[in-house]
Amino acid sequence: SVKIGVLALQGAVSEHVRSLEASGAQTALVKNTRDLDGLDGLVLPGGESTMMRRIMDRYDLFEAVKDFSEQRPVFGTCAGLILMAKQIEGRRGPHLALLDIDVKRNAFGRQVDSFEADLEIKGISEAYTGVFIRAPYIKSAAENVDVLATYEGHIVACQQDRFLACAFHPELTDNPAMHRYFVRMVNEYN
Ligand code: GLN
Repeated sequence: SVKIGVLALQGAVSEHVRSLEASGAQTALVKNTRDLDGLDGLVLPGGESTMMRRIMDRYDLFEAVKDFSEQRPVFGTCAGLILMAKQIEGRRGPHLALLDIDVKRNAFGRQVDSFEADLEIKGISEAYTGVFIRAPYIKSAAENVDVLATYEGHIVACQQDRFLACAFHPELTDNPAMHRYFVRMVNEYN
């Protein structure tokens, strides 16, 4: 089976590990550059994107993850999605710049801290509930980006080649459908 790493600097790391293993993948925690060796894919969890970037820089993980992404699939959730975007509203430059999307942080309003919403996700046949926590949304996406889900007219999940991203927290539900989707992507890419 494929081996997928979870960037373990912030966020619900063990929940991602559980969901990946429920989807048939082997897992590894990524805390330094050497932990990326031998991985077939990588998950960037939620948390706080500017803080996560700062920690990545401190452990030389930023360049290492960028290099890794040139060869392997990456799945970003919430803050992870922000790290993957080529454009971030109100910010001078992007972080990893993997996805041709323009994102807005905390896009559902600060007073709406968190909520759940029923979503229809392309490629996932069953009912799906998205858990949103200070979530971003995707304001616009290039034509080569496959929109997988929208909520109230805003894009909240997408795929572009070997990159997958969602604005919600797939690890905080019992349904591992999004992780299963990513594991399938990694299998196909291998
Ligand atoms: N608001 C956070 C950010 O801008 C993302 C929130 C999350 O990952 N739950 O990074």
